[in-house]
This record gives sequence, structure tokens and C-alpha cells, in this order.
Amino acid sequence: MDFDDTPDEAAWRAEVRAFLTEHREELGASSGARAFDNEVSRRRQALLYDAGYVGVTWPLEAGGRGGTPMQQAIIDQEMARLGIPGLINLIGIGMCGPTVIVHGSDEQKSRYLQRLLRADDVWCQLFSEPASGSDLAALRTKAVQDGDGNWHITGQKVWTTLAHLSDYGILLTRTDPDVAKHRGLTMFVVDMKDPGVTVRPLKQMSGGADFNEVFFDDVVIPDTERLGEVGDGWRVALTTLMSERFSLGGSGTEIGPGFEAAARHIGSRIGDLPAERQALVRQELGRSYVASLGGRYTGYRQLSKISKGEFPGPEASAGKLTGTRTARALADLAVRVQGADAAYASAADGTALWQNLQAVLPGMAIAGGTNEVLRNIIGERVLGLPAEPRADKNVTFKEGLG
Ligand SMILES: Cc1cc2nc3c(=O)[nH]c(=O)nc-3n(C[C@H](O)[C@H](O)[C@H](O)COP(=O)(O)OP(=O)(O)OC[C@H]3O[C@@H](n4cnc5c(N)ncnc54)[C@H](O)[C@@H]3O)c2cc1C
Repeated sequence: MDFDDTPDEAAWRAEVRAFLTEHREELGASSGARAFDNEVSRRRQALLYDAGYVGVTWPLEAGGRGGTPMQQAIIDQEMARLGIPGLINLIGIGMCGPTVIVHGSDEQKSRYLQRLLRADDVWCQLFSEPASGSDLAALRTKAVQDGDGNWHITGQKVWTTLAHLSDYGILLTRTDPDVAKHRGLTMFVVDMKDPGVTVRPLKQMSGGADFNEVFFDDVVIPDTERLGEVGDGWRVALTTLMSERFSLGGSGTEIGPGFEAAARHIGSRIGDLPAERQALVRQELGRSYVASLGGRYTGYRQLSKISKGEFPGPEASAGKLTGTRTARALADLAVRVQGADAAYASAADGTALWQNLQAVLPGMAIAGGTNEVLRNIIGERVLGLPAEPRADKNVTFKEGLG
């Protein structure tokens, strides 16, 4: 891969940069604003969509721009450079929308996709349950069809990111309990305001509450809201999981302001440390920098595959695994160099940024495939090690695809 912009890419970068710079205040650049503030974040996404900078790689008929993955990567890089918070509808764009594009009816596509890109509607992913996470196909939420063709949903989901702000979700259910577990599943679009849907936020150790338990008590979904065929939900879910691994693994092609901010913070404290510790901190920082560079080039490798119309393979797993580990190492180091001051940092005046990251990042080692599952994928599919024994040979774990 050539790492320099082509003339077209350079022109695109200049256009994107000019727009983001002009609107940086409205877009919350460097304000510390959260991606998940409901109304403000919806407005931010609408502004970017109306300017043509959301859903760049989506087809024109889906409300996108029919552009290239590289154009999208340039937008991501430029937003990160200016410290503009991410999009509120990241799950919608990264997972739900691509699933509707592949498996939805024309009616579903025209009803949902453009509104999703503009954040007129926010979406969530209703897959995990208390007894099925990595082993997703074991899920129990039941869908039963009545004589009018409508489906009645009963059960519980958990860890549903943004369910409390969402208008719609993609919902994986069990429609046939009598066949092999991955064969009896069916996917639906559910309106989160439907009677019988109850959303209960879960308080995190960071103090936030970004994910939820969601209960379904005889929720009625018309058959027109089915995504894909009855019993074909596992194949539909694989489309979602494939998109999820890539969007979480990150098209992380920039070292980015996260590393720079950590390095600046660590650099500002290093002089207070005894000389022998200074050398160790420098070494750790250097190690994180090298790992960040590795993440960057892994990101480019994925991008290169996508540009050729291929799906990213195990490099998406490697990208997520190492990206999470590097971010945690940096946050830990940033807190350690604070010494005793670390205990007095406060969320109110922003000095607890690194403590907050320490509390948030462990979740990233679980979300969208745990570190252990990702290591299995890399072991089996990259290094060619023998597969782990599985009770049901037909079932893949949440790894999905690797
Ligand atoms: C921040 C965050 C956001 C999330 N958002 C969503 C969301 O929006 N929608 C949604 O549906 N879900 C969401 N999840 C749930 C997530 O997908 C699951 O937590 C994840 O798949 C792991 O499942 P589990 O929690 O049931 O753990 P389990 O699968 O029960 O795993 C428990 C432990 O066993 C290990 N383990 C399991 N299987 C294997 C194996 N084969 N080999 C080795 N070790 C194994 C795991 O690594 C882990 O350490 C989110 C989770 C987090 C943390």
C-alpha cells in the first residue's frame, strides 16, 4: 500500500479539513463533548450527513455517497485530528445499517437507512443475553408467530449499548427451539417505543450508563419487520458481526490525538520522577508508540482489503486486540506518573480523564468478541494451531467469522 495521498485523496482531505475547521465549534472539536449526548450528538451527525460526510461508502440508493473506504478513513483521521467526538449512531452505521442493506426489503431500506445516517433515528444491536455472549447462538429470546402472521417476542437482552437513546434495534430471536441452535434463529427490526419493551440502564464503574438491560414482554412485531428468512438469523447476524469486528478493530489508521494527549500528559509529569523511573517510563511510552504504529499499519492492511472489495479477516481481530491493549497500557501509565496526585483527580474539572479511561477500557476487551475469543481466532486462523474442542461442531462463537 502507498501511504501517501493520491492527488484525488489529497483534494478530498483538503475539502474535508476545510469543512471541519469551519464548523469546528458546532461539531464540538476539543470540547471534551461526549459522542453519546443525545440531542447535541444527533445534531452533530445531521450536520456532517447534510455536508456529505456520513455513510460515505454506502450505496447512493441507501442514502450514502458511493465513495471509497479511503475517503471514509480520511474523514475519520481528520475528525480525530481536530478532536471532534465520534458519531452517536456508530452502531447503526457500523452494524445495523449494513445488515439492513444486505438483508432488508426495499421498503425497509427506504424507511430506515437515510434517517439512520442523519441520526434522525438512533439504532442499537440486541444480540447478547445473560446466558449467551461469546456463544451467541445459545440465545433464548423467543419469537412465536400468530395466526395473523405477527411475531410475539418474549425474553431479555443485556449490555445493549445505547438502547436507552435508541429508536430502533436489530433483534436476534429463537423461532425454532427444536433444531441445531444456530439454525433456529430469526432477525427482526424492533421499534424500541413498542409496548412491552422495557429498557433499564446499567451503571458502569466509570459512573456512566451507556448500556442497558432490555426486556421484551409479549412485544408484537409485524412479519414485514423480519430481516431475512425465518430460520436464517444466524447468517444475517454474521453480516452484523463481520461489520462490527471491523468497526471496533478500527480503520485506525492514525496514531491519533489519543496517543499524543497521553504522551503530552506523561511528558509533563516525567520531570518529577526519580531518574531511574524516568528511564522506565520512557521505555514504556516507546513500547506503546511502537504498538500504536503496528495498529496503524494493521488498520491500513484492513483498508487495503476493503478497497479491493474483500472483507477484513483475522487482521480485524488482531487490530481490536492490540488497540485495546495499547490504550489500556497508556491510560495506566498516564495515571501512574501522577503519583499520589492520582487519588485527587476529579471528573468535574477534567483532571480524571485517564482514570475514567482506566474504568472504561476493560469493557473494550469484552465488547464485540472477548480477548480470549480473538486469540482463539488468531491461533486457529492465522497461526494454523489446532482448533479448540467444541461441543457442537456446527456452531461458531461470537467470533463469527474471523
Ligand atoms: C462495552 C460493551 C458493550 C457491549 N455492547 C453490546 C451491544 O450493543 N449489543 C449486544 O448484543 N452485546 C453487547 N455487548 C456484549 C458483548 O458482546 C458480550 O459481553 C461478549 O460477547 C462476551 O459475552 P459474555 O459477556 O456473555 O461473556 P462470556 O461469553 O460468558 O465469556 C465469559 C468469559 O469466558 C471466556 N470465553 C468464552 N468463550 C470462550 C472460548 N471459546 N475460549 C476461551 N475463552 C472463552 C471469555 O473470554 C470471558 O472471559 C457489549 C459488551 C460490552 C463490554
